Amino acid sequence: MSEGTVRVQATVERLANPPVPRWPVKVTIELSQRNRRGSRLTAKIGRQWLEGVIATSRPPGLVGFLARMPSNGDDIILVDGLLQLPTGIRYGAPPSAQAEVDPEEGLYMPPTQADRDGVRALSEDDDEGAWDGSVSEALQAQQACSVNGANVACGSCTAVEQRISGIATNLVHVPAAHVIAGAANDQLNDLASQALVAMRTAAIADGAVAAGSDFLKLVSGFRDYPSQARIWRNKMRQVFTTFGCTNWAAIDPVVVATSQALSTVAPPHARNAWLDRFRQELRTAGVAPQGCVDAQIRAAARAEHVTVPASGPIDIPGVAVAIGRKTVATPGSSPHHTGRAVDLHMGHAPGSTGVSSSSTNVTWQRQQRWYQWLVCNAARFGYHPYNREPWHWEHTPPPSTAPVPGTPTSSALDDETTQIRAALGQLGLSATQVDAFAAGQGIAALLPICRALGPVVLLELLRRLHYPVAYILNPPHSYDSDAQANRTLGTTNFTRLAPRLLLTIPGYFREQARQSRDAVEAFILESMGWLIMGSIADRVRNAINVDFWLPHGPYWATAVPNPIPAQAASIQQLILRMSLIDTNLTTAEFNGRAAAWRNGAAGRQWFFETGQGAQPAAQAFYTDAITGAAPAIAIPAVANISTQRGQVQAAWTARVAAADANPATPPLSAASTLALVRCQNIPVAGIVGGVDLTRITSLEIVSTWPVLRPAARPKRSLSVLAATRPAWEGVMRSIMELGWNDLLFQTAGTGCFRGTKTPGTVAGQNPNSARNMSNHSLAIAGDFNDFENKQPRAGSPATAAGTMDPRLIALFRAFNFRWGGNYTAPSTPDPMHFEYI
Ligand SMILES: [Zn+2]
Ligand SMILES: [Zn+2]
Repeated sequence: MSEGTVRVQATVERLANPPVPRWPVKVTIELSQRNRRGSRLTAKIGRQWLEGVIATSRPPGLVGFLARMPSNGDDIILVDGLLQLPTGIRYGAPPSAQAEVDPEEGLYMPPTQADRDGVRALSEDDDEGAWDGSVSEALQAQQACSVNGANVACGSCTAVEQRISGIATNLVHVPAAHVIAGAANDQLNDLASQALVAMRTAAIADGAVAAGSDFLKLVSGFRDYPSQARIWRNKMRQVFTTFGCTNWAAIDPVVVATSQALSTVAPPHARNAWLDRFRQELRTAGVAPQGCVDAQIRAAARAEHVTVPASGPIDIPGVAVAIGRKTVATPGSSPHHTGRAVDLHMGHAPGSTGVSSSSTNVTWQRQQRWYQWLVCNAARFGYHPYNREPWHWEHTPPPSTAPVPGTPTSSALDDETTQIRAALGQLGLSATQVDAFAAGQGIAALLPICRALGPVVLLELLRRLHYPVAYILNPPHSYDSDAQANRTLGTTNFTRLAPRLLLTIPGYFREQARQSRDAVEAFILESMGWLIMGSIADRVRNAINVDFWLPHGPYWATAVPNPIPAQAASIQQLILRMSLIDTNLTTAEFNGRAAAWRNGAAGRQWFFETGQGAQPAAQAFYTDAITGAAPAIAIPAVANISTQRGQVQAAWTARVAAADANPATPPLSAASTLALVRCQNIPVAGIVGGVDLTRITSLEIVSTWPVLRPAARPKRSLSVLAATRPAWEGVMRSIMELGWNDLLFQTAGTGCFRGTKTPGTVAGQNPNSARNMSNHSLAIAGDFNDFENKQPRAGSPATAAGTMDPRLIALFRAFNFRWGGNYTAPSTPDPMHFEYI
């Protein structure tokens, strides 16, 4: 696989017992890398769209269903938002095929482990003959642990990599006595500087470094981002010139804009962060390299050992960045941008340099007593090694000296505030907007989330909202005006973000659970999402003094017993830090709950999405499968509602005729339009079967968002056409059992006898649409999470896509509901709306 392509594999199979009877064909599409999170990846085979599509994590890809087998020769087309990406795969004699798709048009992958390793490789210049194995292994292998005065037994030295990330704060000059000549202007974070001085002083006291020597002095500290960006810009100019490209004048501002855009992201960046952003900025600016000569590009690439495919079009930006990177690190890629990474004077092997990672030099440096002293002692000062470069150490103090959650020092608070500001910058807020956000208490409201989960997760949660900048600054709500919302709730526009953001936490942990290979661990993660949301919510309520409502978790969400189940250390740490231990819970009870989850809809969905469990076991939420038993939640047969439709349609025709006959509401007038879109009591009492109340079981749905806890009245039922009640109940029960209440928690209602509402110019409505009966009139349609899924209007920042989660769309589809977000012209997409087909 060449860099920049995603391998695609598709499998089509006819199921003997399809989970949804009308979808007998299952299509599995596997990608070699993960898709950009959150975008709605789906696929089309020939003219058939996949139904009930759910993204899978392991392997990355998607699973969906078809009503009939594809025809020979049908194309498989991946669809990412509005982009259609032909895979080159055609359905044919073999039921599976492989192809590659060009990801430039929208598929994006987060960094893999190989990428992260790549970040390390480019953190320093010399990458000749890399050394593998850890520091401790090297020491033990050489049996060379004796250090003057350090009094450590051989083999007990452990120095473990603990890589740094974060933006530089509180920079100071390191005292001159500990800096090598020529680096006097280098700076470090104040704590990293103090620790370096204390560490080197101790090394001298232990005799590992002679008092007058230069060893362990600072050679290189903080590297400032603008300088790196300048050097990189010159490099890019040079590379594009060797390519013979003629439009550097147009490319240059895009290079500058790319670095500018990334300057607020906490370094070190993922390996391809700069290149990915560069491609995006090129598209935004409508610029492509011009006049470049293929032969010259190939020659330049050959000279730098960069591979270019022998035939086909050349990925010019990709090749340019790959060549540039051979001698200059892309801005943001070096841990030295954090202000907490140091290069120390170690000396060097004969014929080498101090920063050569050749195995000769690395071996030599590791044999020196000052290096061995560091291995045994640096952790006491918060410094940790970088295995490949003995001279490079990073200051990541241990948790015991880090601020304890809940009792931050002022400098830790400053740090978190800075991190939140950086995250907001990442989302596209200007400095002025961030200042306004902070002044309106927005940052105070986000602090508990950042403190509990860290800035990286905070940014991820913000991204999961899919809010444009205008929404971040003023989140949508159910009230008539911002002023009314804030008066009722006691919020500002900015503090309204935190309650909504909290609801992204269960989804974040659900996704983490999908990275796990272990069902119990996945269960703990899914549970923790809800418990952590609840616990942080209390801290946010206190921080902004607003007692807002949030739904409770699903019935299966549970804390863990003491002793904590044997799971990964990172999960145990999180459990301890968030106090998610229930000492009254026995291990047997916990195991019982885990088994219930595993055998229930949520666990089966996890097996389905991760591709784990015995095949053909793992199937979707709407059927049982692991055990082959009857579906947990059966799909009711499609109800025929044509009689009821006819009756309500007759009532509607009469209502329109009455309005037309009324001189106060002449046809197509503003008055008539408003009269027809006004909700009236539905006249279905008299129709066949009438209207039933669908119970919402334990699901919590409110009609207003956000709402104060004392005022919240979660609905217990919805009014729906009696014939469609089993389908509605199937949806609601599935959501409850799956634990997806975070995805659906608000409704504007179901039944409403009125005309169709479509944005238009007569009293804000389209007068022709208003004359057509809405499906709400039959009580077969529901509007959910409507506050952020409005139909697009002029001037509205909302996109046609809204925020409806693909999982919900798949779930409703399975139960025979159509999603309004798929409406196409002449209808307007209506992402809040689901209706029975
Ligand atoms: Zn370094
Ligand atoms: Zn609707």
